[in-house]
Amino acid sequence: ENIEKQLTSVIRDIPDFPQPGIVFKDITPLLQHPELVQAAVERFVERLEGIDFDVIAGIESRGFLFGFLLAQRLNKPFIPIRKQGKLPFHCVSESYKLEYGQATIEMHEDAFPAGTKVLIHDDLLATGGTVVAASKLIEQLGAEVAAYCFVISLDFLQSAGRLTRFSEKIISLVHYE
Ligand code: 5GP
Repeated sequence: ENIEKQLTSVIRDIPDFPQPGIVFKDITPLLQHPELVQAAVERFVERLEGIDFDVIAGIESRGFLFGFLLAQRLNKPFIPIRKQGKLPFHCVSESYKLEYGQATIEMHEDAFPAGTKVLIHDDLLATGGTVVAASKLIEQLGAEVAAYCFVISLDFLQSAGRLTRFSEKIISLVHYE
């Protein structure tokens, strides 16, 4: 059975989380299958072949899980992007709109030098608001987005088009149409 099917079989739907009407894709059952986690990391490695990048930036908190594993696997530096107020050093920050209210994410201002090619990773692509803000953080440091990779993409939200002005290379292991 292929890895994408195996991933789909362990990703769990949680209705009405975090609010009524939302069906949340829960990846925590996947984390209980180390061999499947390793296979997913290897699939990312295969899919990223031929894409040139220097570092991996992972988004708090579920983006740290596979982001850090992948960085270690590829012997690349890992950069955490976190919610406002969590990182201890001087930060660049970006605010973005949520359905209700707004959120701010931050990254250390010395995370990498200008010109660095950055792979952005998060567990899931929904509206794209989070990774668009992450891309702007990377541009604030004069660096560029080399590609995006996600475990899951909610394709029915049709948000990939929001990312293509930063990079057209968008990899997702599992798609929901
Ligand atoms: P976006 O900014 O693309 O609308 O939302 C993506 C962000 O929200 C990601 O950081 C992701 O972790 C989180 N998120 C939104 N919906 C889900 C979901 O159904 N499952 C998981 N695991 N994360 C979600």
